[in-house]
Amino acid sequence: MSEQKRFFDKLAKEGYTVLVPDMCPIHFDLLSHYLSQTGMKLVVITPTGREAKDQGLNAIHNDACYPVIIIAGAFIQELRSGKYDLNKTAVMISQTGGGCRASNYLSMFKKAFAKEFPNVPVLSLNFSGLEKEHSLPLSIPRALNLYFGVIYGDFLMNLSNQAYAYYPKEEIDACLKECLTYLKARIGHPKFFQKRRVLRYLLEKFKPFQPCGERKPRVGVVGEIYVKYSPYANNHLGDFLLKEGCEPVFPSLNEFVLYCLYNYFVDHDYYGRNKKSYPLLRVAYRYALGLTRLSAKMLKGTTFLPFDDFEDVIASGKKVINIGVKMGEGWLIPAEMVCFAHHGVNNIVVVQPFGCLPNHIVGKGMIRPVKALCPDANIVPLDFDASSTSVNQENRLKLMLSNAKLGK
Ligand code: SF4
Repeated sequence: MSEQKRFFDKLAKEGYTVLVPDMCPIHFDLLSHYLSQTGMKLVVITPTGREAKDQGLNAIHNDACYPVIIIAGAFIQELRSGKYDLNKTAVMISQTGGGCRASNYLSMFKKAFAKEFPNVPVLSLNFSGLEKEHSLPLSIPRALNLYFGVIYGDFLMNLSNQAYAYYPKEEIDACLKECLTYLKARIGHPKFFQKRRVLRYLLEKFKPFQPCGERKPRVGVVGEIYVKYSPYANNHLGDFLLKEGCEPVFPSLNEFVLYCLYNYFVDHDYYGRNKKSYPLLRVAYRYALGLTRLSAKMLKGTTFLPFDDFEDVIASGKKVINIGVKMGEGWLIPAEMVCFAHHGVNNIVVVQPFGCLPNHIVGKGMIRPVKALCPDANIVPLDFDASSTSVNQENRLKLMLSNAKLGK
């Protein structure tokens, strides 16, 4: 038995509670439920107010990027809450293993926790072989369950974001809850992989909430992955857009998964890497693409709009940037902007974390070429900083939305 497996078996046997940050609320609710079946109890933490940000600023050097500051702060706030046995609590984050600072977040957390929480292990969930001993073992069934969870989570995120714009929140919340209960009862069992049946069930539940009447202005959100999806990190951007009478459009989480997968092919083509794994990765990519296309196909005959096709996203990206640019979210950000604009989502918010050089270059830095290609695009970059309030962001958004509503 490997060291890694022995370590995680020990945590499960001792009934450890594992805290995870709230990135995509729908997806993480489902995935944490599944991973709790391993014996460890996963708790998705959902901070509110300023405290977690202040704790993060105290614990992490303030030139670090915004996501590490707020995630560390949220962990510290939760660990101090008195709700957990600190000898049986761990924290876990997901990592992609790219060349960016996120690959070093674990050592930053360990340093921040060293004095106050020396017994709290810092764990990783990744597919890249990082932090070998402390990364959750991923067997094929486990990886597949997690991946299908992402697909279904995306499907629900897409339907609910469109439904919230036209129907009362309580009704959509109840529908979402029912769908998640259905998925939680299946995840980890073979019937979870009956994709058509599962997607059909979710769609049937949402059919009464199809967008109707005149379509509201659609506002696309692109940018750094954590800030894009986490309501705490982006100061509840989705809710703000809904309140302003818009329809928020978040790209699928699977689009980021496909982006990471596609970058292996870029490395193969540009640098001759991944020669052995290339054929297998190709098969995985085609399969993943097929699943997303199935999700889109299921929406035919309804007024729900599907996510953009990933091959369209790649083609859009190639018009404005070299796909060898892949630090941070790399070419994906301008690609998503162009793809949104090509499909009529001309109002676009680019979320930018403080201290994130790569995403400033491919986000704010690419607005001019994107606008040259798509003159109708109405793009606003939004900076997120742990020490600032949301007032500036809201003012910038209101200015951008005033143009959106006038159809400029
Ligand atoms: S992409 Fe930006 S926010 Fe993410 S780890 Fe890198 S520097 Fe930090």
